[in-house]
Amino acid sequence: MLEVYELALKMDEEADRKEGDPQRLRTLLEELKSLVRSIPGRYFKETEAGVRPGIKDRRDFKILLAEDNKMNQRLIEALLDRMDLECRIAANGKIALDMLREDSYDLLLLDMQMPEMDGMETIRHIRSDEELKDLYVIALTAQAMKGDAEKIINAGCNAYLAKPIEKDKLNEMINSLLVNNG
Ligand code: MN
Repeated sequence: MLEVYELALKMDEEADRKEGDPQRLRTLLEELKSLVRSIPGRYFKETEAGVRPGIKDRRDFKILLAEDNKMNQRLIEALLDRMDLECRIAANGKIALDMLREDSYDLLLLDMQMPEMDGMETIRHIRSDEELKDLYVIALTAQAMKGDAEKIINAGCNAYLAKPIEKDKLNEMINSLLVNNG
């Protein structure tokens, strides 16, 4: 693939030159064509299906949002939608645990303040559960007080975001997960 890239760069340079040589450009294009023809068809099939090597399909990336506040549920759902991602929603930690045990998820967004079972208790259950202990968990916290972040990470969350959730930060965290999970 590096060769294709290098050739494309050369063509780009040639096209940018003030007195570019159309013949040279044509020669490079022919080289590029024959190089592309030598790439196994399998590669194209995978690409057509939307499977890019090393990057998980966004629609296959399963997110569970544990959040009791309806407004926050809708807000985060909308943020994820703009990133081409979907999530399922649990209104408290208890429901979240049930859902996590029924289906496999790639990511849990975990609100810390919830009725029935809060975030702290939920993360403890997750980390002591043989099936769930490796789940990636991002804690969602209200205006974090000093020391809260440390408590949250010590309890076993992988990362945390303070509310209101910033789209760019959430996007960045999820993108790095998508690449690593490929
Ligand atoms: Mn809450």
